[in-house]
Amino acid sequence: MNEFELIYDVIAPTSCLRDDVLLGIGDDGAVLAPPSGQSLVVVADTLVAGRHFPPDFAPADIGYRAAAVNLSDIAAMGATPLWATLALTLPASDVDWVRGFAGGLADALRPASTALVGGDTTRGPLTVTVQIIGSLPAGSALTRAGARPGDLVYVSGSPGDAAAGLAAWPPPPAPSAALAQLFARFTRPTPRLALGVALRGLASSCVDVSDGLLADAGHLAARSGCALELDATRLPLSAALRETCAPSTALQHALTGGDDYELCFTLPPAALPRLGALAGPGMPPLTCIGRVVDGAGVRALGPDGRVLHFARPGFDHFNGANQQEQSGPMME
Ligand code: ADP
Ligand code: MG
Repeated sequence: MNEFELIYDVIAPTSCLRDDVLLGIGDDGAVLAPPSGQSLVVVADTLVAGRHFPPDFAPADIGYRAAAVNLSDIAAMGATPLWATLALTLPASDVDWVRGFAGGLADALRPASTALVGGDTTRGPLTVTVQIIGSLPAGSALTRAGARPGDLVYVSGSPGDAAAGLAAWPPPPAPSAALAQLFARFTRPTPRLALGVALRGLASSCVDVSDGLLADAGHLAARSGCALELDATRLPLSAALRETCAPSTALQHALTGGDDYELCFTLPPAALPRLGALAGPGMPPLTCIGRVVDGAGVRALGPDGRVLHFARPGFDHFNGANQQEQSGPMME
């Protein structure tokens, strides 16, 4: 298959349709109708083979991940996704690979009603860049900058699962139910889109957990100009994680492991009564794991109230020393 057959016959048909796509794949550019009165939110993330996913990752899981990590950024902003572009660099024109990849991409984009409206296809080492454009009412974006001392710190879902899945990679032929669940959390993370939208006007700051809870909570602290104090005993560790890992390893995965794509947000105490309304179908469980205090940085306190220390709080793409550590995530 040539480049254009791959694009038009394999990739394009997997896209969902939206009325606001006035001109989609097939021309020099896409023409899109932005929702009136809304601000646009634009995110992009690149996945490089062997760096952001294991070399033996299934094509469908690569496609899914490329979309999901971007949808997670959209969720963290409180936006609704609308349109996506895909820049795909492939070592060879492998139709089966692209078919699997495009199916996985659609598995993530379709439930989010996000249309693939364009992209680029080139030959080279396997690299995938997805860009997503979303929207929200002007002035309602969730940012990293609004946390204030006295706010409570929350996390969605059960952090640490994805890192435990990666640590056990590759999956054995017959993994236990618990291990299978951890692998699924690693290969098919759920972007918390409904939660992000529901947190508009409620959360004082928000970030998605891609690099590790301590590292990403650190972004909230830095951008908000205050400190976050996390209580490690309150971390909502999943039964699968506790069943699979020793307590100290489970804690390390939950605090420093990446790839969870949960939301970590801060909530002013006055907003607390409205939090209960967020429970329901499609919503992950929410757990208060700490508080915002004066100062700088993030600390996690253990059962004895003492500060826990880890060799690395999370993944840093440009910190070579950190990358030598073994048990943390390979992803950023
Ligand atoms: P141009 O040469 O003008 O940049 P291309 O020939 O690269 O256009 O692309 C043709 C059409 O196919 C464009 O609409 C482009 O957005 C779309 N396209 C190319 N690659 C991809 C891809 N990997 N996924 C989705 N759309 C793509
Ligand atoms: Mg052109």
